[in-house]
Order: sequence, then structure tokens, then C-alpha cells
Amino acid sequence: MEQRGYYGRYGGAFIPEILVSTLDDLVSAFEEAKADPSFWQEYEEIMHTYSGRPTPITYAENLTRHFGGARIFIKREDLNHTGAHKANNVMGQGLLVKRMGKSRVIAETGAGQHGVATATMAAKYGLECTIYMGETDVLRQRPNVFWMEHLGAKVVPVTDGSRILKDAINEAFRDWVSNMDNTHYVLGTACGPHPFPEMVSWFQSIIGREARKQILALAGRLPTRVYACVGGGSNALGIFNGFMNDPVELVGAEAAGEGFHSGKHASRIASGDGSPGVAQGYKTYFLQNEDGQMNETHSVAAGLDYIGVSPILASLGDSDRVRFEGATDKEVVNALRLTMKTEGLIPALESAHAFAQAFKEAPALSGDDIILINQSGRGDKDIFTVADAFDDPHWKTFIRQKAEAYHA
Ligand SMILES: *Cc1c(COP(=O)(O)O)cnc(C)c1O
Repeated sequence: MEQRGYYGRYGGAFIPEILVSTLDDLVSAFEEAKADPSFWQEYEEIMHTYSGRPTPITYAENLTRHFGGARIFIKREDLNHTGAHKANNVMGQGLLVKRMGKSRVIAETGAGQHGVATATMAAKYGLECTIYMGETDVLRQRPNVFWMEHLGAKVVPVTDGSRILKDAINEAFRDWVSNMDNTHYVLGTACGPHPFPEMVSWFQSIIGREARKQILALAGRLPTRVYACVGGGSNALGIFNGFMNDPVELVGAEAAGEGFHSGKHASRIASGDGSPGVAQGYKTYFLQNEDGQMNETHSVAAGLDYIGVSPILASLGDSDRVRFEGATDKEVVNALRLTMKTEGLIPALESAHAFAQAFKEAPALSGDDIILINQSGRGDKDIFTVADAFDDPHWKTFIRQKAEAYHA
């Protein structure tokens, strides 16, 4: 294997021989697109007319007053079509698929957000679409399965392993091996074999490119710190890319679940529980045991509940360019509650990790400091989880009545 697609000690392309030429073709298509200014123009145009970009930055004056420290600004990726930054990646890869002349896309999905985004893109571009999803996830994420199917995608429940996201990824690779000629695998985050980490992070860099200009125009200076939640790492790399060469502190918030000491979390870097290994086509920090068996992970936010992390972030963590922290489920639910009441915003549970971490640090900064939080998505999708966390009695009655109506 060539030494390409490495970020420090991480990355690479650990793939079956049969996929090598397909990934080579993808690398070429990506390099050509990157070198062609009209490609990025076309990308910006579709994101403008279809997904509402540029997304604004909102000044959170009530949160700022509440904490009495740094001024807090929020980049609004929740306003994208399908409700999150995932649109940036899927629409970009969709354009690349058209350029490569392929007619079918496949994708993995955990919570279903990437599946819905991919199904949406496939409908728009007239592509055949199959989504792989662990059977456990199919059962617990029915609303997203419903939308994927009605957007025209075929959802295939995966019954291997623990029947969750990592198993869906393995199955998607198996499909790709058998259907390389007409099929592109739309990987959902900045993980997996080269060129996916770099390619996904390049499409997501639209967040940071916009944000840097916007914050300079709004506040007249660069932010002191930028916060983003880290699942696979795509929204974090997207906003961080805009500030990589600036004297700006970059903070990645991982899922601390029930706390680092509980063992029930999904933090690969901040917890110190992850270790370098090779799985799913790339090398990074994984939550694994000494034999390389993957551990069970936990987070209140399904989108952060993954064993690996972008090799680019693993390297930026090693070099201390990005600081990693963890926010617990409890801190996240409290941050969500506060943000709703003070700003009228409903961040996704994933995004609320970035808010929770920023809230811990804001009071110690001064009024001259600026905090920029990436709101990666909107929280409407989380109504079932959040209603449980808030223990809302009226919601339970509503669900009970719905269930009874189906029994009748
Ligand atoms: C999927 C998702 C994430 C996690 O993915 P990254 O690749 O780490 O960005 C975060 N926020 C939202 C809203 C998501 O849907």
C-alpha cells in the first residue's frame, strides 16, 4: 500500500485488493474536481439554491448575558435542508457521482440522518439508492426509515454483529465490492479509507469558509475559541478548516455519556480509553479491547455513538492543534434546555455537546473574547429521546393514545 492519505500516524486505505482500482478512480475524480474551480462553483450554487446556504451566524445575546463571560455566536448548520451539516457532504459527493457517470449510490446510517440526506440527494439527482442500517437501529429509528423509504431508497437491515452502525459500514463495503462499476459509496463522515476523510472534510469546509468571513463582518475579529461536537468528525473539521491557520483555539466535544468512569461513553480521545488500531478501512483511535474487538459505545446522541474518529482529528489531537473534551448526557440535556429557553434554538443532541462544553468555559473568559459554536443540526428529530429525558407526562399520554388507537 502507498503512504498516501496519512495524517501523522493515522489514515491510510486498508481495503480488499478488489476495491483498490475503484478507490483509485475516486481519488482521481476527487483530485480533478478539486483542481477545477467550476466544480466548487457548481457545488456552492446547489447548496445555495437547494440547501439554503450560506447558513447565518446568530449572536446569542441572552446566553452571553446568562454566562457573563465571552460573547457567544452560533453557526447555524441546522438550517440546511434535511436539518444538519450532512447535506454539505452528500450533495458534494452526489455531484462527484454525476461527474463519474455512476447511476447508483449506497450508504451506511446509524441514527438515520445520513441515510435521509443520501436518499434526498439520490431523489434529486435521479440515482438508485440503497441504505444499510443495523437491524437494531432500523427498529429504534423508524421515523427516519419511513422518510428514507418514501424518498425512494431501499433500506436494508443488517443482521450481523451487534446490528448497529459499524455493522452497516461493513455491509456497505461488501455491496460496493460486488457493484463497483455502477455504484458509489457515499460515506457519511470524515472516516474510512483514503480519500474519504479528506474528501468529506473538503466538502464540509464550506462551513468554516463562510464562518470566518461572517464572524469578521459581525464581530470585527476572529473568535477566541471554536467549539464543535465530534462523532466521526465531519462537522468539526468543516468549521475548524476555516480557522486552522489562525490563532484560534479549536475544541472538539466528544460524547462522555454517563461519564468517563462509567465506561458507558463514546469518547475515543478525551477519555484516554481509545487506542490506535485498524478497522473499517483506516487507522485511528478506536474504542476497542486489547484483542482489537470493538467495545460497545453509549451516548444520548445517536450521531456521536461510533467506535472510531476521523484520522485527521486523531492527528490534530496528537499535535495539540485541537483540544478534546467530553460532555456528559446530563450536561447535554441541561445545555439543550437552557438554549431552548434563552435563545429559542433547538440544537440536535449531538450539537448540544458543543454547547455544553462551551457553557462550561464561557464564564471564565472575558467580554472581549468570542466563542463560536457550530450548531451541526436541529433537534426536532430527537423529540422521542428528549421527551424521555425531560420526563414529559403529556408526551407519554400522547404516545399511549396513539398505540391504543392502533390496537382498536
Ligand atoms: C451525524 C451528526 C453528527 C456527527 O457526525 P460528525 O461527522 O462528527 O459531524 C453531529 N451532529 C449532527 C446533527 C449529526 O446529524
